[in-house]
Amino acid sequence: MQQAVYDAIVIGAGPAGASCAVWLAHMGFSPLIIESNGRAGGLSASNPFEDTWNVTAPGLTGEEVAARIKLSLDSARVPVLLNSHVTRIEREQAGQGHEHFKVYFGADLPLHARYVVIASGVEPRKPPEWERDHYDDVLVGPGKHVANYEFALKDVAILGGGDNAFENALFLKERGAKSVHIYARTLRCQRHWMKFLNESDITIGAYTFDPAARQINGRTYDVVLVLYGFRARLQGMQDLGLDCDELGYVRTDFKTTQTNLPGIYAIGEVTHRQHPCVVTSMADGVVAAKAIQKQLEQGDA
Ligand SMILES: Cc1cc2nc3c(=O)[nH]c(=O)nc-3n(C[C@H](O)[C@H](O)[C@H](O)COP(=O)(O)OP(=O)(O)OC[C@H]3O[C@@H](n4cnc5c(N)ncnc54)[C@H](O)[C@@H]3O)c2cc1C
Repeated sequence: MQQAVYDAIVIGAGPAGASCAVWLAHMGFSPLIIESNGRAGGLSASNPFEDTWNVTAPGLTGEEVAARIKLSLDSARVPVLLNSHVTRIEREQAGQGHEHFKVYFGADLPLHARYVVIASGVEPRKPPEWERDHYDDVLVGPGKHVANYEFALKDVAILGGGDNAFENALFLKERGAKSVHIYARTLRCQRHWMKFLNESDITIGAYTFDPAARQINGRTYDVVLVLYGFRARLQGMQDLGLDCDELGYVRTDFKTTQTNLPGIYAIGEVTHRQHPCVVTSMADGVVAAKAIQKQLEQGDA
């Protein structure tokens, strides 16, 4: 029996991957998405707040944007394998000088594709002191787990010097936290945040952090929020030989989103091609889909 070969396997069902797959499907090709999580939408699905940055979707929360991404995938009949984490990608000879890809995702047998699109996004950076999967009352990265946490009457430490640290400090004060102290090794935030906080609430410079004891510089907090920014998610793809920048994001050709590896494209936040948000990620998906269309219609795959 001849094996099925998808035109493109897209890794990740966030805004970037979903946009690419929907465009490919509407252009008559056969994409398939492999997604680690149990739902589509990527980081949007963990944003419970209104997404005021997307001018086409006023009034919708990130979670509602994610629900619309799922509707778009369903209506374009894009197959999405949920709870499936890509662990390896290999090239294979497909005859007549063509190469295909084998994409492994935990199942016994890999799936096959003419092109691969990496749309695996980012994950919150963990502190160097991090040694376990989880520490009680130490929250890493922004999102729903922070929004759902009860901060009232708690002493809170926030680690990080970016906009997220300051925005969350104000959010937690509004939520009734007893005290909020920011520890920033360096300041990367927009300076206008400083006027909303007392100088005594911010420590700038080196500090020690013991996550198990929730102690910073020896002071114990009820809860610690770690906001060290994000890093590219490339687990399972490290051995491919992808060219990445000094921060670990995948470098791509701006016009096509192709990586340094022929046939492999990368889009959205995993590349940092543009300012990271839903709209630019979706735009990347369109660029990749059009570049792959061109390749497929030239019949070289
Ligand atoms: C709290 C929060 C609020 C935000 N608010 C806004 C906002 O209001 N407006 C806005 O425009 N942007 C917002 N953003 C940013 C926006 O969510 C991201 O820019 C956007 O989701 C990036 O899309 P992406 O498709 O590149 O990556 P992601 O959304 O991260 O999607 C990547 C997907 O790939 C999957 N994946 C990763 N590795 C693998 C693998 N090996 N195998 C299979 N699947 C894999 C992941 O599970 C994930 O679902 C917010 C982000 C956060 C965290």
